[in-house]
Amino acid sequence: MTSPFDLYEVVIGIECHVQLLTNTKLFSSAKNHYGDAPNTNVDILDIALPGTLPVLNEKAVDYALRLGFALGCQISHTSVFARKHYFYPDLPKGYQISQYDKPICGEGRLEIRVDDQIKTIGIERIHIEEDAGKNVHVEGGNVSFVDYNRAGTPLLEIVTKPDMRSAAEAMETFKTIRALVTFLEICDGNMQEGSLRADLNVSVRKKGSAVLGTRTETKNLNSVKFLGQAAEFEMRRQILEIEAGNTIAQETRLWDSNRKESRSLRSKEEAHDYRYLPDPDLLPLTLSDERLTRIKNGLPELPREKENRFRASLGLSPYDAAVLTSDREVANYFESALQTHNNAKGIANWIINDILRIVKVQNGEDASISDCSISANHVAQLVKLIDDKVISSKTAKSVFEEMLDDSNKDPLQIVEEKGWRVEKDEAVLTNAIAQVIAQFPNEVQKCKTGKTQLFGFLMGQVMKMTAGKVDAKEATALLQKTLDELP
Ligand code: ADP
Ligand code: MG
Repeated sequence: MTSPFDLYEVVIGIECHVQLLTNTKLFSSAKNHYGDAPNTNVDILDIALPGTLPVLNEKAVDYALRLGFALGCQISHTSVFARKHYFYPDLPKGYQISQYDKPICGEGRLEIRVDDQIKTIGIERIHIEEDAGKNVHVEGGNVSFVDYNRAGTPLLEIVTKPDMRSAAEAMETFKTIRALVTFLEICDGNMQEGSLRADLNVSVRKKGSAVLGTRTETKNLNSVKFLGQAAEFEMRRQILEIEAGNTIAQETRLWDSNRKESRSLRSKEEAHDYRYLPDPDLLPLTLSDERLTRIKNGLPELPREKENRFRASLGLSPYDAAVLTSDREVANYFESALQTHNNAKGIANWIINDILRIVKVQNGEDASISDCSISANHVAQLVKLIDDKVISSKTAKSVFEEMLDDSNKDPLQIVEEKGWRVEKDEAVLTNAIAQVIAQFPNEVQKCKTGKTQLFGFLMGQVMKMTAGKVDAKEATALLQKTLDELP
């Protein structure tokens, strides 16, 4: 029997809010900085004292253009700031300054990679807007506070077309946007701190249908994992509703990451509810060709370009290249290690299998490579010690453990202190093999008469006897030769 889930297709579009790394706010000179004491980064404009006027932060405009060019968007020579009206204690003006019918960037596209296939996700628009403050609810208490530090923080909102067809594609889109904004150095990409958050729009329709179903919007997802879980949840919920004969209400929902479910927050507002109007305090934003050219020419190498270069000129596998370019800090770490020792594959392996794994174990899933105590330079030195046959790859794992304990020591220093250099003295290996053969005559005999799996056992004994300090390849060859020559 076919499951009802197989009869439907999910349609997803996301809106990504990108907090910009400017020094000051979008329209005031208050500091734009996360984590400071409440209400310390506040200008009279941010709390809407009468008579204050907004002054546009040009850096935020440049950042919007960087992103617009990187996403191949149509850039508007003239865009308009609009007031979006609603009441909430964290919005003292009673309206948010945003862009409405004339945003700075129009249609563009984003390439994502799913199962090593490239898929293009359409971009609807990017607009500039200000963030609101934050209501702080005290657990168990009957008071709430408002922190206006975030009020007026510059945001870009990226709106995609409803082009995603699975939770995996939505996650990949969010991840790719994160990589892009961090490479462009316009956002720190820190989802936990809310620097990057997504609203998830989901609808379902019968497979083969060309019309879109009614969508719901799950607000403020601040991790790739939550976005994926919320998409799966919503898709199943809608299918079950429709199969039960109900209709989907267009509504705004909230994700509860502890219960792994979303609940309805309010029925969805329509644009006319906000009474958008052009902000009379701000002139239309006009951009010169000279400015556009300057920004366009100043773009850095983008993640996809870097990924292709890592594959084509460094010979990395598609997987390795994708992991190393998923995050600007990881890419920087890798490239900085390459400066010390030019073995891309070797260094890539250590970063992906050891460094990134350990960082997550020590600092949680959302950890950044900058939390790692081991420097890129030291990782490169470690790989060089293996390549130069100063240590075996097995010993390298122990050196790595020591590096984790004391990140000040360089790998060679550890090797010297521990006496872990590969034994270059041929006699040590010959002796060890002779001893093993003498100690395990039965195993040796069986190995010679066909029980070849015992070869691994004998090798293990040789490595044990030499404390892993002999070159494994040489040891294998010599053990084989010695066994062959035995009567
Ligand atoms: P609003 O602010 O009202 O949510 P936007 O135009 O800013 O409207 O964003 C709409 C988002 O919803 C876009 O990402 C778009 O791709 C997506 N979307 C629109 N219709 C559907 C639909 N039927 N199913 C899924 N996503 C949709
Ligand atoms: Mg929306």
